[in-house]
Amino acid sequence: MFDLAVVEALRAIVGTAQVLTKKVDLVTYSYDATADVPRRIPDVVVMPANTAEVQQIVDLARTRGIAIYPRGAGTNLSGGAIPLRRGIVLSFQKMNRIMDVDAENLTAIVEPGVVIQELNNAVAPHGLIYPPDPGTVATATMGGSVAENSGGLRGLKYGVTKHYVMGMEVVLANGSKVRFGGKTVKNVTAYDFSSLFVGSEGTLGIITQITVKLIPAPKFRRTMLATYQTIEDAGNTVAAIIKAQVIPATLEILDHKTIEAVENFAHVGLPTGAEALLLIEVDGMADVVVEREAEAVIQAVAENRGVLRLAKSDSERDQLWSARRAALPALASLNNTVVLEDATVPRSHITGMLLACAQIGRKYNLVMGTFGHAGDGNLHPTILADKNNADEMSRVHRAVEEIFDAALRFGGTLSGEHGIGIAKIKFLGNEIGETGIDLMRSIKDSLDPDHMFNPGKLVPDREPAHAV
Ligand SMILES: Cc1cc2nc3c(=O)[nH]c(=O)nc-3n(C[C@H](O)[C@H](O)[C@H](O)COP(=O)(O)OP(=O)(O)OC[C@H]3O[C@@H](n4cnc5c(N)ncnc54)[C@H](O)[C@@H]3O)c2cc1C
Repeated sequence: MFDLAVVEALRAIVGTAQVLTKKVDLVTYSYDATADVPRRIPDVVVMPANTAEVQQIVDLARTRGIAIYPRGAGTNLSGGAIPLRRGIVLSFQKMNRIMDVDAENLTAIVEPGVVIQELNNAVAPHGLIYPPDPGTVATATMGGSVAENSGGLRGLKYGVTKHYVMGMEVVLANGSKVRFGGKTVKNVTAYDFSSLFVGSEGTLGIITQITVKLIPAPKFRRTMLATYQTIEDAGNTVAAIIKAQVIPATLEILDHKTIEAVENFAHVGLPTGAEALLLIEVDGMADVVVEREAEAVIQAVAENRGVLRLAKSDSERDQLWSARRAALPALASLNNTVVLEDATVPRSHITGMLLACAQIGRKYNLVMGTFGHAGDGNLHPTILADKNNADEMSRVHRAVEEIFDAALRFGGTLSGEHGIGIAKIKFLGNEIGETGIDLMRSIKDSLDPDHMFNPGKLVPDREPAHAV
């Protein structure tokens, strides 16, 4: 049982109703969206309402030697929000205010618990958007997506979360509050601390406010679906579109298994006989430019033997995108365990990586669907398995290792957007080496000397980590 005095102290800080201790409440916080990682029921969940409360919680945790596990919506795919050891789960559901929308400076300031779509809803009346667009845009929080440096469907043209964070407020391990960056487009004062905290996966400090950049919403768009009889033709179309110097807002790929799963799941009229399909959207401020880009895409599709369908209405467009967003849930419905990776390669190797994934799936006799952000070289090979079948799970683990090896061989990375968390921590050295790990450890040691924040994630332990 967690120390009652600690629970009482937490209640004194945030109020009794904001401290959860009953098992029925805690179970929800024992896992996140990641499969095949350990689960653990937390000792206590605390929901602060403001930065001052976060500071007091950090002070309490530090003096009592308690770990803190920050948590947004728990949709991450690397085990980042799981309370691996004894400690406090810090949930930001009460810190969900949009503090400022500044249409003059094209910025917004939000608390970490704001859901990404809610920010977009708030800025839409100003003709603005916040572009980072993970598949979970309607549920994931700003704090979680900044801590993961989330990407998403619009990454190719608009970039990822790191390109939109202009500043933040952070509570450090010593309980002090610090602000970096702000509303200015340029800011080279001090180290670029905002960039350090973007993608830090809750391991360096608690993000309590975020200043983000907004951009004008594109006025015109053309959405297209292209289907193929071979993976190579689909992959070569991606290369041809980029070579034609067209940067679509989105350029997504679904392989045969994923097409089949989505169609059975969502019934949106996808061609289940196709080996691959591309979903392509070009957008912009001028109709004539968007049309010219759409023509270049149509030509690239035709040259690579694709069959093209143009969305003729907003509802047809929405249907195509909901098909893409259904890819993971559709695949996940096929078995009890869905192991989803996000190995990423330079765009020019997308065909090679797609073929490598298919070959690895066959080699280990696994059911695998691959989809993802083809324009970014960011693929999601997704293995469907039965967690009760030890032999199959061992083949899954060997296949995952080979997928990572293939990505690194192509000059790519272990993770394009889902982070390292616990899921990929043992592979980290394969990409950044022992020297890279040592550098991460020294940053962690310097900012979080007691390893209080999200211990066991992202930075491999040097010694037994913080525990109560
Ligand atoms: C169906 C599906 C589709 C997805 N599609 C995409 C996609 O297209 N692109 C993509 O990039 N990701 C995608 N994801 C992954 C996930 O949605 C993102 O990582 C998301 O941004 C995480 O936000 P969250 O609020 O759920 O964070 P959580 O999962 O709760 O937390 C994520 C990490 O952030 C830390 N954290 C949370 N809040 C704070 C804070 N205030 N201060 C410090 N650390 C904090 C946590 O400790 C944890 O390490 C997808 C996930 C699913 C299930």
